[in-house]
Amino acid sequence: MLKCSLCIYDERTAKIRIVDGKPLCKECIHYLAHKPDKNKIRGELEALMANVDRAIVAFSGGKDSTVALYLAKEFYNIEAEAVMVDHGFIAKEAIANAKRIAQYLDVPLTILRYDYSDIFKEAFLKAKSPCRKCSSRTMRRLRKYALKKGIKYIITGHELPFGHHPYRLMSDGIIQIRLLSLMTEKERFKILEKLPFKFPELAGYTTNCLVLGPALKKYYEKHGYSFEMRRIAALVRYGLISKEKALKKISKPEVPEEIERKIYKCLNI
Ligand SMILES: [Zn+2]
Repeated sequence: MLKCSLCIYDERTAKIRIVDGKPLCKECIHYLAHKPDKNKIRGELEALMANVDRAIVAFSGGKDSTVALYLAKEFYNIEAEAVMVDHGFIAKEAIANAKRIAQYLDVPLTILRYDYSDIFKEAFLKAKSPCRKCSSRTMRRLRKYALKKGIKYIITGHELPFGHHPYRLMSDGIIQIRLLSLMTEKERFKILEKLPFKFPELAGYTTNCLVLGPALKKYYEKHGYSFEMRRIAALVRYGLISKEKALKKISKPEVPEEIERKIYKCLNI
C-alpha cells in the first residue's frame, strides 16, 4: 500500500501520486507547491500581539488553551480573562485544571455553562464528528461575551494546520488570535511542565472533553479511520508533531464501556 512520504495519509484515506520518485498525497503536493512562509506567519503574530493589551483567552482547561493562557499572561503580559465554555461534557479534571491554572497565573476565570447535547446527539446518531459544530458554537458564545465586555481580541490555543494567517477576523470587529500557530507539541509540553497541570486519563487523547473519545470510536467503527485524520496529517506536514505520535492519535481509541454508557444515557440515545 502506498503511503505519503510526508504526512500520514495512505491509499485508504487519500489519493497518492508519485512525484520525483516519492509517494505524496494531494494535500502534501499542494503544500509543497505553496509552502507557507513560517517567518512571515511568526512576524504577523508578533506584530498583532504587540497591539494587544487586553484579551479573552478561550480556556477549555485542556493542554493547548493552558499553554495559550500562560503565554498571554507571562510572555506577552496581557491583561487576560480566561473564559471557559462548559458544553455540559467537560471532564471534571479539566475544570479542576482550569481553576488551578487560573489561580496559579493569577488570571480571573469565568465559566459559561451551556447545553450542547443537540450537537453531540446528532453526531453520535449519524457517526459524524461533533468538533466543528461544537467549536464554532463556542466561538460565537465567546464573541458575544467579548462584545459585552468591550474586548476586541479572543486568544485561542489553536494551531495553524490550514491557512496562512495566525488570526481570523470575526464579525463585529472581534479578532481571533491563534496563539499557538506553528508551535510544536514538544514546545507545548515544555511549558506545561512549569505549570500545575495534571493530565487526566481520558479516551481519545483529549485533555478535557468526555465526548471526543466515544465520538472518535463511533466514527472509526463506521468509516475505518479517524475524523481527526486531516487535521493531524496537517500537523505532521507542518512538522509540529512526529509521525509516530500522530499515528497513535488517529488510532481507534479505547473507551471504557461505562463512560460510553454514561454519555449515551445523558444524551438519551
Ligand atoms: Zn501527505
